[in-house]
Amino acid sequence: MFEKILIANRGEIALRVLRACRELGIRTVAVHSVADTEAKYVKLADESVCIGPPPSAKSYLNVPAIISAAEVTDSEAIHPGYGFLSENADFAERVEQSGFVFIGPRAETIRLMGDKVSAKDAMRAAGVPCVPGSEGALPDDPKEVMRIANAIGYPVIVKAAGGGGGRGMRVVHTSAALLNAVTTTKAEAEAAFGNPVVYMEKYLENPRHVEIQVLADEHGNAVHLGERDCSMQRRHQKVIEEAPAPGIDRKVIAKIGERCAEACRKIGYRGAGTFEFLFENGEFYFIEMNTRVQVEHPVTELITGVDIVQAQVRIAAGEKLWLKQKDIAFRGHAIECRINAEDPFRFTPSPGRITNWHVPGGPGIRVDSHAYNGYTVPQYYDSMIGKLIAAGDSREQAVRRMRIALSEMVIEGIKSNIRLHQDLMLDAGFVAGGTSIHYLEHKLENQPGDSQD
Ligand code: ADP
Repeated sequence: MFEKILIANRGEIALRVLRACRELGIRTVAVHSVADTEAKYVKLADESVCIGPPPSAKSYLNVPAIISAAEVTDSEAIHPGYGFLSENADFAERVEQSGFVFIGPRAETIRLMGDKVSAKDAMRAAGVPCVPGSEGALPDDPKEVMRIANAIGYPVIVKAAGGGGGRGMRVVHTSAALLNAVTTTKAEAEAAFGNPVVYMEKYLENPRHVEIQVLADEHGNAVHLGERDCSMQRRHQKVIEEAPAPGIDRKVIAKIGERCAEACRKIGYRGAGTFEFLFENGEFYFIEMNTRVQVEHPVTELITGVDIVQAQVRIAAGEKLWLKQKDIAFRGHAIECRINAEDPFRFTPSPGRITNWHVPGGPGIRVDSHAYNGYTVPQYYDSMIGKLIAAGDSREQAVRRMRIALSEMVIEGIKSNIRLHQDLMLDAGFVAGGTSIHYLEHKLENQPGDSQD
């Protein structure tokens, strides 16, 4: 096992990785920007290194500074968390070339999955069901593009191969609008991602977002840890996640889960990963793979008892997977609410000093957050300041516990989206379960904000 790990991230996930390392008896190095110098998790780490000024481009994305920090602290491995450099194949390569272990898949796997066209090709070849669409990139010939769209059937969605974060896609409802949409998406993709390649898929009108968590070692073993439903989204950003996905037969999950585990064995996947699917009319359609730990990993941990972050570390250290599929049992239900420093109705970010912070507790409640009384939420980064997770024997119990936890939670000095979560925990659609990815947006459109500050 490693003796010392450098955590190349910030906020709640830096703290989460730190805790996993401590339990494994591994010392930690926190790297931080000037804006995070006072953060408590930085002080909790065995060592800390300031890697640059507040803007991420100069700190959390500053590869030479992170590598030097690993060198001067004599770290053996680097955990990238999520976001920032976690899915940057060049970074993974640089880490390994500099003699450190990258806690994640091999650089070539990250590269394969980072390009959505090659990812889909690889998944199709590995037997994972994909959204019907173009075989690979769209050709230049307009007639061919029209033919492909007609074969798929409208509506279609034109997507950038290099896209991410919900950007670089366009829905097309009629053939008249197709060629323009392709040209515009290509230009946007070139500008935003430096890659003009686009592809086409059938646009699914009312799907759910259901994803499969996998763990794979470098010795060819892989298991799945079941699914998470992350359909409650706003602007393609997840707001609430839960496991299991309400109303889906366990046999169906076992089947798609095994397909994902098998795909991992076929492509030589290493580490934790997530296969994201759209789920409609009982069918799964692969959209992309995330080659890192997900924000929503705790809901899976709570129903399986598997520590996903520790698993990442143990796999990176070369351990053979200690779990067999039959050892993995799913117990009860867990729900996660992402707590953001933002206006609950207008969604504008609300950085600043937290003057009063009180977290809930009691049976089944877990809070993953780096915030505390007097903590200042910096203006430079993502607005997520923590995650509130509730587990119970049943979904009903998890929902009840979440309602109580939300009512106990106090965040003063800045605005937070607690009110939104309180509304959602009482919402008839959410309570029934199984809503589509458009549900929250529709609900918000029909109930314009009543912000009374
Ligand atoms: P990103 O990497 O930008 O998150 P994804 O391919 O994961 O891109 O797609 C993001 C979201 O866009 C999905 O969660 C879904 O809401 C929507 N989307 C993508 N492809 C389709 C599709 N074929 N049909 C309907 N919605 C889609």
